[in-house]
Amino acid sequence: MPGPGFDTIVNLAKKRGFVFQASEIYGGLRSAYDYGPLGVALLRNVKAAWWRSMVQLRDDVVGLDSAIIQSPQVWEASGHVSQFNDPLVECATCHARHRLDKLDDMDRCPTCGSSGTFTEARDFNLMFRTHMGPVAGDGNVVYLRPETAQGIFTNFENVRRTSRRKLPFGIAQLGKSFRNEITPGQFVFRTREFEQMEMEFFTHPDEADRWFDYWVAERREWYLELGMRAANLRLREHDAAELAHYAVGTYDVEYRFPWGWDELEGIANRTDFDLRCHSERSGRDLRYFDQVAGRRFYPYVIEPAAGATRAAFAFLIDAYHEEVVRGMTRTVLRLDTRLAPIKVAVLPLSKKPRLLEVTERVASLLRPVWDIEVDVTQAIGRRYRRQDEVGTPYCVTVDFDTLDDGAVTVRDRDTMVQDRIGVDSLQGYLADRLADPQHGGRKK
Ligand code: ATP
Repeated sequence: MPGPGFDTIVNLAKKRGFVFQASEIYGGLRSAYDYGPLGVALLRNVKAAWWRSMVQLRDDVVGLDSAIIQSPQVWEASGHVSQFNDPLVECATCHARHRLDKLDDMDRCPTCGSSGTFTEARDFNLMFRTHMGPVAGDGNVVYLRPETAQGIFTNFENVRRTSRRKLPFGIAQLGKSFRNEITPGQFVFRTREFEQMEMEFFTHPDEADRWFDYWVAERREWYLELGMRAANLRLREHDAAELAHYAVGTYDVEYRFPWGWDELEGIANRTDFDLRCHSERSGRDLRYFDQVAGRRFYPYVIEPAAGATRAAFAFLIDAYHEEVVRGMTRTVLRLDTRLAPIKVAVLPLSKKPRLLEVTERVASLLRPVWDIEVDVTQAIGRRYRRQDEVGTPYCVTVDFDTLDDGAVTVRDRDTMVQDRIGVDSLQGYLADRLADPQHGGRKK
């Protein structure tokens, strides 16, 4: 089944308050976005699902939150200052700048359509530069991190020592990264400020290939387990020319976006490149001491590096469905219950004070456990449609019978089947069906 069009998703995201244009009241800042009430909930749920699977459920991975601004020496040692470049070309006719390796047609400017008029490609460094302290000068240049990974490498020894880890083990971190992309675009897919979810898995070099295969499979499975459709997901191996300067092998997990297959996540074998560079540059020995073998060596690193903002966008696209119900088109986001921004909507049939009073009692029962919304405006059918459109798994309707029988109607988003449930057993009923972030997925 073909997925939704790009404009359809962008319109939904804007109309329903998932994503807003940043600085909109000033005309907007190109390719910068703010996450609205539903968007921030979706994004937080994606990050929580990642953290849960990568850190909480494993005994071989620990977490970290390192600074965005590090010593510039970190980026010199890692190769980012000299090599984190994209090839920049400029159209001689309209002066639009493009990234050479992303051009569909090397002889045609995608902005003005003229042909064969690009300048020679030059390396453009993607790091944002700023200055630390009140006086801007050459001596105090710092960079906003372009990846979260380096903060992990520089803390390798701190974490290993304090958490008493033996190989193999991983360090996970999620947070903001910044890249001065030449051509950001496709809504939140490629922005200059974005969130990453990265894990560096340190292993004996002899076991690196095995762990590489393991993490490639594991990371694909993560998207599937959260409900992404297998037909929209694929693995693609990088050929030698495409590999980053630090990698000997990379697979991308790709998603079938409205414009075609594109990257969600990269899983790379970074070898001992980073620990070796930081050791040499800093003078601190970051080798691992193997007590059994009685020798020191640099561990190899397998890195699954995903984008949180990009993954949230892909989950949104994948969940989007339109279907005809009794002659009417209904839009429904079939988001996994763990990702859905609102888990339960509580809807009184009318605004009569007696119903509102019971509604508030029901809401206060559910509010401490799940993200809920109380919606009292407009006809009940419209309110159901509004909740379907943002992926709310359950609607609880309080009606006049509730006043007599103490029961409410619970409607399932996907099947639209309605159950009559006593308010006393409502929490248990929903807990049986809903995932909550603490307890994992929807019970089968
Ligand atoms: P590309 O070659 O497309 O610029 P990359 O392969 O350099 O990207 P990585 O360095 O592997 O990307 O980054 C890991 C992940 O971080 C990506 O798979 C993506 O999900 C996310 N990411 C990278 N750059 C951006 C961006 N500009 N906007 C949003 N997410 C990004």
